[in-house]
Amino acid sequence: MKYNGIFLGPPGAGKGTQAKKAVHEFGLAHLSPGDILRSEVEAGTKLGMIAKEFMERGELVANEVIIGMMKNRIAQLENGFILDGFPRTLEQADALDEILKDSGKKLDSVLNFTVSLDELVFRLSNRLSCPDCKNIFHKFNMPPKKESVCDNCGGTLIVRKDDSEDAIKIRMKEYELKTSPLIEHYTRKGLLININGEGSSPEIYADVVKAIKG
Ligand code: AMP
Repeated sequence: MKYNGIFLGPPGAGKGTQAKKAVHEFGLAHLSPGDILRSEVEAGTKLGMIAKEFMERGELVANEVIIGMMKNRIAQLENGFILDGFPRTLEQADALDEILKDSGKKLDSVLNFTVSLDELVFRLSNRLSCPDCKNIFHKFNMPPKKESVCDNCGGTLIVRKDDSEDAIKIRMKEYELKTSPLIEHYTRKGLLININGEGSSPEIYADVVKAIKG
C-alpha cells in the first residue's frame, strides 16, 4: 500500500509501538530519528557524539543536525513511509515540505496521538526498550515473557537514560514548547487525524489502520 504519513504526539504516546505494527502490515518504511540517533551513539560516530548529551538530558537535538540526517533518507525512499518523531519543530516541518517537494512526494495524513500527562509519565517511567531490535515493553502493561529479555530477539532489555524522572520532565517541556505547535500547523493543512492513544494497544491500532486506509 502507498501511504506517506507522520506519527505525531508527546513522548510515550505510543507512536513507535503503533508505527512498528503498521509498517509491518502495510510494507512501509519506518523512519525514527530517535532510533537512528541511538544507533549512532552506540556506534560512536561523530553524529552520535553530537547528539548524546542532548538526548540523555531529554532536549531536542539541533534542527540542522536532524534535518541533515533525515533529508537523504526521506528523499531516497521508494515506497510509502511513516515518520515517527520527525518533524518535531515548525522549522523541521518546513524543511520536510521542501524535501518532499523536491522528491515528488506528498503527505497523506498526520496521526496525532493524544494521551493524558499522568498516563504518559506512567508509561515512560516503566518503559523497557530493546537496544537490538528496538521493541518496546512496559513493566506492568506489556511485560516481556521472561524478565529483562526481549520476546522478539532475545536481547537484554534496558531502561533508556532519557526515561529518568528529570529527563522525562524536560522532554515534556520540549514537546509543549516546540512540537505541539505542529498540531495547529497540520490542522490548517487539513492533514491532522486525532487518535485516542489511551485504549488498549489493539484498539488504538484499529484506529490507526482506519486512518491509514483513509
Ligand atoms: P525518541 O526516541 O523519539 O523519544 O527520541 C529520543 C531523543 O532523540 C529526543 O529526546 C531528542 O533528543 C532526539 N530526537 C529525536 N527526534 C528528534 C527530532 N525530530 N528533533 C530533535 N531531536 C530529536
